[in-house]
Amino acid sequence: MNADLKRAAPDRYLLLKGFARNNRLNPTFAEMILWQHLRGGALGTKFYRQYIIADYIADFASLQHQLVIEVDGAYHSELVQTEYDEGRTQRLQDLGFSVLRFSNDEVQNQIEYVVQTIKNYLLNHSANLTDTHTSRQPHPSLTGGVGGGSGLRALLFDMDGVLFDSMPGHAYAWARVMTEYGLPMQESDAFEHEGRTGIGTISIFTQRYWGREATEEEAQELYRRKTIVFNEYMAARGGEAPEMPGAREVLDKVRAHGLLRVLVTGSAQQSLLTRLERHYPGHFTPELMVTGDDVRYGKPNPEPYLMALQKAGITADEALVVENAPLGVRAAVAAGIRTIAVNTGPLDPQLLLNEGASWLFPSMQALADNLDTILANDE
Ligand code: MG
Repeated sequence: MNADLKRAAPDRYLLLKGFARNNRLNPTFAEMILWQHLRGGALGTKFYRQYIIADYIADFASLQHQLVIEVDGAYHSELVQTEYDEGRTQRLQDLGFSVLRFSNDEVQNQIEYVVQTIKNYLLNHSANLTDTHTSRQPHPSLTGGVGGGSGLRALLFDMDGVLFDSMPGHAYAWARVMTEYGLPMQESDAFEHEGRTGIGTISIFTQRYWGREATEEEAQELYRRKTIVFNEYMAARGGEAPEMPGAREVLDKVRAHGLLRVLVTGSAQQSLLTRLERHYPGHFTPELMVTGDDVRYGKPNPEPYLMALQKAGITADEALVVENAPLGVRAAVAAGIRTIAVNTGPLDPQLLLNEGASWLFPSMQALADNLDTILANDE
């Protein structure tokens, strides 16, 4: 990959975080200027700042007009960056968006021209808007609201790293026990493999370092040991994983929108429902839960999510998934469900986007802060 493209990644992450934290991002001077002319519906339509569309972040976006406005820094004139921008424009157009692109210089020195160009665009594209609005099916990877009339009925929640902040304990236990068995594993590896069944994870590492599958007995023993170390870790910290900050608010908002909550976890603990009920009372029922006991394959196979759709009696179009793990996102996307990724662990957020997440937030709290916007178009 070209160095220029690589450099975009950290910027992108900052933008994502900024978006998710209610735009507490340091905008460029040009963006600040333009925002003063777009904010508060000043041009007759609502613009969002740093809006996530598929795997891009638009500087400014109007969902009503399917318009993206980009403000380009000086580096955009470099050849590679130009090619990148063209690819990005094409992709946004494929998703049904038009792209207006201005340079920093234009915004800073000719703001009247910039604003007038945007006004002209909005004027010329508002005439047939009502015609197309009702008939246009939102592209599945459009990441504005979920789309008018899509009939959303349920949100499907992963558990570890989404509802409970349990992943540090799992990562610690995995890394320690695997290493004891001569299988070098870092805590970060545990985050990357999150979502697999325990046996599945063990098998990958024994093949890599022992050159063979673990026997059934070896795998069971190792997994038992991992569970013991995990429980010790938790016992030293009050007995169980804390709630993920923001999760309760997310669930309450989902309920307030009249949507079902479905749990889809690889975990197979007996006490699951009791614990959920204690922390998130009234949100989950046994009928709307898929656990590690229910599935044959587990994530990243789409099986658990397909099973969840079946249990809830809904189609993929009628659901959204909330996931923190790349393999969880892969499973949900493979089941055809639009997926909200929350990067609550230490992974590069690009991993979640690469798996096809439609939205990305740095925390459950950030999702809570933006959930009404995501769900708004559905009502
Ligand atoms: Mg998870």
